[in-house]
Amino acid sequence: LRGGTPTRVIPFAQPGSLTRVYGVASGKGGVGKSSVTVNVAVAMAQSGLKVGVLDADIYGHSVPRMFGIDRGPTQVDKMIMPPQAHGVKVISTGMFTRGNAPVTWRGPMLHRALEQFLSDVFWGDLDVLLLDLPPGTGDIAISLAQLVPSSELLVVTTPQVAATEVAERAGTIAAQTRQNVVGVLENMAYLPCPHCDERIDLFGAGGGAAVAERLTTVLGHDVPLLAQIPLDVRLREGGDAGVPLVVSDPDCEASKQLRTVADRL
Ligand code: ADP
Ligand code: MG
Repeated sequence: LRGGTPTRVIPFAQPGSLTRVYGVASGKGGVGKSSVTVNVAVAMAQSGLKVGVLDADIYGHSVPRMFGIDRGPTQVDKMIMPPQAHGVKVISTGMFTRGNAPVTWRGPMLHRALEQFLSDVFWGDLDVLLLDLPPGTGDIAISLAQLVPSSELLVVTTPQVAATEVAERAGTIAAQTRQNVVGVLENMAYLPCPHCDERIDLFGAGGGAAVAERLTTVLGHDVPLLAQIPLDVRLREGGDAGVPLVVSDPDCEASKQLRTVADRL
């Protein structure tokens, strides 16, 4: 991976491509975008779909760890063969750096890297490709819209006002790129009380619904609130350990909500 010219066309951008491509976007970092991407992808694979995850957070790549992948891709002819974990094919710049060396590319290189991941990785016949986008309204989101015009966006936010404001901006980019926003996912929606049935609104309340409503107005099509995922320490532990929560505890509330999203995409 040298940011060179891609050797092949992007299969997902060809007319008649049957792969649904979703960019998972957020305004802020740390709202759970990568955790959501990984768990939704695995939930889809559990229900029999052929799924790929492209870690498009070039600087902040965290997807390989969350999948428990510590090996790099192999190369066959000029194609990059993505490693597979929990039934999902995965590619990330994290697989191409030595140790934990930072990626220090400038803007145009990011576009090239995304293009190469889309064209030169042997994805096979995927039903769904999920892209974990970097936070914010930056280059990569626009590149995705250019490279795969039919791609759609899933917006992740927390209930917090500061997060919802940026999430709205991330979503309204879609108006300029003419991308469909499939829905909003509110993560860290509440903390289930350990002693009773109550929900503790640690980060405020109503942010997800507010973003969905706002995007519906701005984009002029229905943008539903797809799910509210509670805070669950095992979601983080699973991410660190490389075993997604939908695998370790498929019946808990967070996993149910993540599956709801998987079923809607
Ligand atoms: P992003 O990709 O948006 O930066 P991450 O998926 O890396 O966010 O999540 C940020 C941190 O919050 C991680 O440590 C992750 O394990 C944790 N986390 C995400 N969602 C939840 C949740 N619902 N409950 C508990 N911890 C969570
Ligand atoms: Mg991330």
